[in-house]
Amino acid sequence: MTMFDVVVVGAGFGGLYAIERLRRDGLSVVALESASDVGGVWFHNRYPGARVDIESLDYCYQFSSELTHEWRWSERYAAQDELLRYLNFVADKFELRRHIRFNTTLAGARWRPDQARYALTTHTGEALSCRFLMLATGNLSAARIPNFAGLASFEGEWVQTSDWPERDVQIEGRRVAVIGTGSSGVQAITAIAPRAQQLYVFQRTPNFSVPARNAPLSDEAYAAAVNMPDRREMLLGTPVGSVFGLPAPALNYAEYSEAARAERLQAQWALGGQGMNRVFADQGLDLAVNAVVSEFVREKIRELVKDPAVAEQLCPQDHPIGTRRLCLDTGYYETFNRDNVALVNVAGDPIEEITPTGIQLRGGAKYEVELIVFALGFHAFRGAMDRIDIRNAAGASISDAWRRGPRTLLGLMTAGFPNLFHLTGPGSPSVLTNMALMNEQHVDFAADLIAYMRAVDAETIEPELAAQDVWTDEVTRAASTLLRLNVDNYMVHVNADDGSRVFMPYTGGLARFNATCRAIAADGFKGFVFGGKGEMRS
Ligand code: NAP
Repeated sequence: MTMFDVVVVGAGFGGLYAIERLRRDGLSVVALESASDVGGVWFHNRYPGARVDIESLDYCYQFSSELTHEWRWSERYAAQDELLRYLNFVADKFELRRHIRFNTTLAGARWRPDQARYALTTHTGEALSCRFLMLATGNLSAARIPNFAGLASFEGEWVQTSDWPERDVQIEGRRVAVIGTGSSGVQAITAIAPRAQQLYVFQRTPNFSVPARNAPLSDEAYAAAVNMPDRREMLLGTPVGSVFGLPAPALNYAEYSEAARAERLQAQWALGGQGMNRVFADQGLDLAVNAVVSEFVREKIRELVKDPAVAEQLCPQDHPIGTRRLCLDTGYYETFNRDNVALVNVAGDPIEEITPTGIQLRGGAKYEVELIVFALGFHAFRGAMDRIDIRNAAGASISDAWRRGPRTLLGLMTAGFPNLFHLTGPGSPSVLTNMALMNEQHVDFAADLIAYMRAVDAETIEPELAAQDVWTDEVTRAASTLLRLNVDNYMVHVNADDGSRVFMPYTGGLARFNATCRAIAADGFKGFVFGGKGEMRS
């Protein structure tokens, strides 16, 4: 059996930095990665049009000033291939690959309290043992697998955006269907439309999409960012870990004159990116204010799409803007003006089955296609964890502990699961922030905690139940007045029995979260229970 201090699961943004930091701290570390190379979501989501929706100057590592100066992003929003090149560059620069076992999937983990270690088994049956298990498995990595009736009979080709093949997928000259219109679908549709002979877009729920305003990255913007002193600290002090492309903080709707409101709406639309989420400070809290922004964007959709009936179907009416993740695009709505693109509204007439030659709706309509692209989303937050059989001393899984919604301390650890870190988990700002920085923040906190354990001669660490309850209450309180709590989306956990709703990420912002983490660390990691060789303390 091979013994390690830390086993990291995943070699994406979080896993790569975890290796670098923990190794620097003198720990023996290995990462298990089921893919054949580094990159995580940027390895798997190589679909046409895949691109980050946080500015590249922010969505990258901040821990090494040398790295920051060595890498020159080409565009405001890097495309998937550039992001993957970057993560490969990082892996090579810091010589991380020798700590990664590729094509290796962690199948199970058992906590052995007598040894204060996890016993791990890989998919090939290999046994490993570690003191700390760090899940860098991502929140949006376990894809919803298409389970449409008849799929096995399809004689064409089908692919998933979330697991796009490395080989060339033929689009030219083919009739193509894309099913799903979230961020992935919107990007794929826009990129596939000019290449396909015919594209059918199967939409169940329209989402708001706004122009990314992607552009080449100017030398001035690049130089200003990389030469900024204390850039990392500055980003950690912002609400979402990002500064580029963000407007100055907005005021409440009532504080603007009628003319200023109209000006602001236009200016934010022109700015693009996340600007439409920040037209008025209270648009995420007040339905009437939100309705103004929502209607403004619907009007833009009606201007952009020539066929009024198609435009109306593309207009979201069932949710306020920003209560589901805003999509960023580069010409999405204009795509529907193309002769070779047709919108298929499956809201009231769902897909009945996949036939050998295409897709059939319940109402009988048939669409003949040679390629189907599924962009169906993910089992968010717990999906990747559920694929690993992780058990604590009592035989319980994390999912058991989170049955009525996640309960964590700082999104990083769950009471009852000693020495197990789930990076960027629910209860942290997570997917609401720049995930590159969020991962760094969580890895650093966990590494500092491990270093502190050495100093106090502790073997085990886990959240104190009371502290976890307090933090979970704080996460609930922070989201309690938000409109998005009451809209179904992958960030909301709904309890089937009583309909109670839990907003999973922490909505208090990265700055407040980071300050809380630092205060806890400065107070001897108050709220965590240390056990083992050293004196039990909390
Ligand atoms: P998603 O937002 O969950 O969208 C999944 C889509 O599939 C929805 O439109 C959904 O419709 C549809 N769908 C599911 N089952 C269906 C069925 N049986 N019939 C018809 N339609 C069906 O997933 P995603 O697009 O992969 O995006 C997830 C998240 O990943 C994003 O919000 C973002 O956080 C991240 N992401 C980021 C980027 C980026 O940085 N640019 C790109 C891609 C993804 P309903 O809404 O009706 O369920």
